[in-house]
Amino acid sequence: MDFNLSEDQILMRDTAREFAEKRLKPIAEELDAKSHLPAELLKETAELGYFGLLAPEEYGGLAIDYLSYALVIEEISKMCAALAIAISVQNSLVIKAISRYGSDEQKSKYLPKLAAGEYISSYCLSEPGAGTDAGSLQCRAIRSGNDFVFNGTKSWVTSAGYATIFLVFAITDPAKGRKGISCIIVEKDAKGMNLGQPEKKMGLKASDTREVSFVDCNVPVSQLLGEENHGLKVAFSLLEAGRVGVAAQALGIAEAAFAEAVSYARERKQFGQPIIEFQATQFKLAEMATRIDASRLLTYRAAVLYDSGEPHVKEISMAKLFSSQTANYVANEAVQIHGGYGYVKEYAVERYFRDARITEIYEGTTEAQKMVIARALMQETQR
Ligand SMILES: Cc1cc2nc3c(=O)[nH]c(=O)nc-3n(C[C@H](O)[C@H](O)[C@H](O)COP(=O)(O)OP(=O)(O)OC[C@H]3O[C@@H](n4cnc5c(N)ncnc54)[C@H](O)[C@@H]3O)c2cc1C
Repeated sequence: MDFNLSEDQILMRDTAREFAEKRLKPIAEELDAKSHLPAELLKETAELGYFGLLAPEEYGGLAIDYLSYALVIEEISKMCAALAIAISVQNSLVIKAISRYGSDEQKSKYLPKLAAGEYISSYCLSEPGAGTDAGSLQCRAIRSGNDFVFNGTKSWVTSAGYATIFLVFAITDPAKGRKGISCIIVEKDAKGMNLGQPEKKMGLKASDTREVSFVDCNVPVSQLLGEENHGLKVAFSLLEAGRVGVAAQALGIAEAAFAEAVSYARERKQFGQPIIEFQATQFKLAEMATRIDASRLLTYRAAVLYDSGEPHVKEISMAKLFSSQTANYVANEAVQIHGGYGYVKEYAVERYFRDARITEIYEGTTEAQKMVIARALMQETQR
């Protein structure tokens, strides 16, 4: 597989790298401390086209390939993983959903505003009682005349505080169980929809995460996305590709933590010499670098396979599994190389350590990725 980047891909990567270095790096610590992504930063991100990376050109998007997309997420995540997940949810979950399953009216109504970053969006699948087993969700959207009437609660909704549209998965036919779930576009001013307070998280603090609840919330039937009662298929098909974004996010965090570790190990002296001179430190760095390289290869392969339309489900889960584990491993080792200084906020590795943790949890836990990989292996080995 050829990972020689094209001129366009190099340009996407380098532009994102410059934005991350010049704009995000100086404020990353402050964003984390204030647990907030300011509106002006979202606006600048929108101006770069990052909220419309995967939107079709005819609707004002950049329509870039998946490897370019992974490169942008990787670069942004090096400095601000919280902004990266807002970009990722918008593109690989919401824009992909509307592009693939939306009616012409829905595409014309939403895609230009999403592509321009005028609208930020959220993806609402998880619930208090439904996480890995997403099909057990309880939120209902029962037809009444020309409306769906929503009742229920969605948890962990990324970007909820500033989102204009929410893709909500809810039961539309209770008699059909998991086969009675639909995906419906809900606008933020829908009466009966309420946002909770921001969750107080361990990491990814600048990302806005909230509960969204519905009490007799009426939404027109025309907001149904795709076929009625086929929502779970929609949800899983989106997550499958969305995981490339999380793999790239984890890769970016690992690379940034590694760079901090090398730089600190060169500066810090103990026993009269920089700690990078100790073989114990060098072995740590060797292991970290090897795992990062393997993560990069798996992530880029997953992106290229997704674009080519070749089988990719197992490969995307492998990339997400390994990159997220690598981010945690590398961030942990980077803290260790910093000693006590890695345990305080003065050094960025403390944040990388906290931010890395989520990559093994959302868009399918580590265990969920292993289930996907194992299922594919069982099928392959049956042939
Ligand atoms: C910061 C943050 C942002 C998020 N953003 C979003 C969002 O925007 N939209 C959204 O819909 N969701 C979002 N989520 C939710 C996230 O996707 C879920 O947290 C995740 O899917 C896991 O679900 P859970 O937390 O209910 O854990 P559970 O499913 O309860 O799992 C608990 C543990 O049990 C394990 N487990 C569960 N089932 C099995 C099994 N069959 N075999 C082996 N082990 C198993 C899990 O792997 C895990 O270790 C977000 C979560 C967080 C923390």
